Amino acid sequence: MPTREPCPLFINGEWITSTQTETEPVYNPSEGVRISATPMCGAGEVDRAVKAASAAFPAWAETPALERARLMFRFKELLEKHYEELSQIVTREHGKTLDESRGSVRRGIEVVEFACGAPSLLMGEALENIARDIDCDTIRQPLGVSVAITPFNFPVMVPLWTLPIALVCGNTFVLKPSEKVPLSAIRMVQLLSEAGLPPGVVNLVHGGREAVDTLLSHPDVRTVSFVGSTPVAKYIYETATRNGKRVQSAGGAKNYMVVLPDAEPDATVDAVMGSAYGCAGERCMAGSVLVCTHDAAERFLPLLSNAARGLRVGPTDRDANAQMGPLVTPQHLEKVRASIHTGLSEGANLIVDGREVVVHTCPNGFYLGPTIFDHVQPHMQIAREEIFGPVLSVMRADNLDAAIQNCNNSGYGNAAVLFTESGGAARKFRHSINAGMVGINTGVPAPMAFFPFSGWNNSFFGDLHVQGHEGISFFTRQKVTITRWTRSA
Ligand code: NAD
Repeated sequence: MPTREPCPLFINGEWITSTQTETEPVYNPSEGVRISATPMCGAGEVDRAVKAASAAFPAWAETPALERARLMFRFKELLEKHYEELSQIVTREHGKTLDESRGSVRRGIEVVEFACGAPSLLMGEALENIARDIDCDTIRQPLGVSVAITPFNFPVMVPLWTLPIALVCGNTFVLKPSEKVPLSAIRMVQLLSEAGLPPGVVNLVHGGREAVDTLLSHPDVRTVSFVGSTPVAKYIYETATRNGKRVQSAGGAKNYMVVLPDAEPDATVDAVMGSAYGCAGERCMAGSVLVCTHDAAERFLPLLSNAARGLRVGPTDRDANAQMGPLVTPQHLEKVRASIHTGLSEGANLIVDGREVVVHTCPNGFYLGPTIFDHVQPHMQIAREEIFGPVLSVMRADNLDAAIQNCNNSGYGNAAVLFTESGGAARKFRHSINAGMVGINTGVPAPMAFFPFSGWNNSFFGDLHVQGHEGISFFTRQKVTITRWTRSA
């Protein structure tokens, strides 16, 4: 685990220190202390990383798919060996519970497992006799240098959404992780290097706007994968496509959960709690608005409020019983607290106030307890804008149609969830909802590695999503060959 400051870069197989003096702090949010510093790389360092990836591309692209896959198998073994260590790093720099970190690292490993199937995944198609004596086939080839710019909330999993797939497809890679959580990415790149990746195939740079802009405009970069907030996702998509890159750009979310009165009470409350407060709400799949139809609010809200008040908030780095950790930085804590002021000023009814939660053992940690607003109206800011913290807005709707209408008015389209025992209602919801990932009686409908992570509307800009076959398509281009051989007698 690197402790040197500022965090090192990895360029052409070597760990180097940035020449930049400007840094951003990295915190252990449970304790509220600074544990490292991220250098804000300038254009020169980013250019070196892209050039190293570009130089490594021809040999890596010629490496047989089976050999590239074998390297992924070795990487997977190392990830398993260091699974606990990686999970602890995620908890230390992000603040989520160790179980949540373990789950997220596991999800990332599953993408590596998917990528290990490269020889089959990369197969083309063929048809003989498309006309007399003429055959046709397709092959998939890599594009060149791929770039990923990732957010703070899943420091291992989100880089692994793209990195293994890009690599097995034969591309080389530059990763620019969030400046708030660089330590997980550093450890992962160390493991990739240990797995035997040739120099230049994977490179790591740090930074903010300047580093990102250099990547978006660099002539050697062919694909850009972004995950982060919607304004930045839109900027990345527009800038990178204007510069001729292939782009997949995942943005923020405002996910609705609908409860019908026939939903099973205990399971529904458990699922809503996990969705709203898992990872302290810092999750693009977090349920942020709960729409209760008919008399469901009267039945579910008392149970939900009790569960929220009972959730144990604490330092996830040393309290194994903590059920919810802190927010990632003091700035983000302030932003989420400000949204509670907004909800109050808009006239919503604050029935559980997370600001009252105090963690006596860690007075400097960035804590906010589970919060619930009731009687939230569709026009309110807290019903429309992403909060990205443990704040749940409860709305009422007369029936399922009205609830679906509320969900569909959200400009986002990541996840939408329904709790019911009615198959007909579930079928209607799946058909009519304007979101790319749907949950029926499950609070976080995050697809596994072999399915696309399928955000819609302002939650995704581009055509091909991360993971699964869409990932393979994104990181390759197809070549069609038409062959004519005259039959010999
Ligand atoms: P962010 O947009 O602030 O940062 C994401 C990345 O972009 C970071 O690497 C950051 O350094 C860089 N960046 C930030 N501002 C930039 C700018 N002006 N120009 C260029 N680059 C910039 O997001 P975050 O706060 O790190 O992460 C939280 C957000 O990510 C939430 O909105 C969440 O919903 C979203 N997210 C979405 C998904 C998804 O699949 N849709 C998954 C995870 C997180």
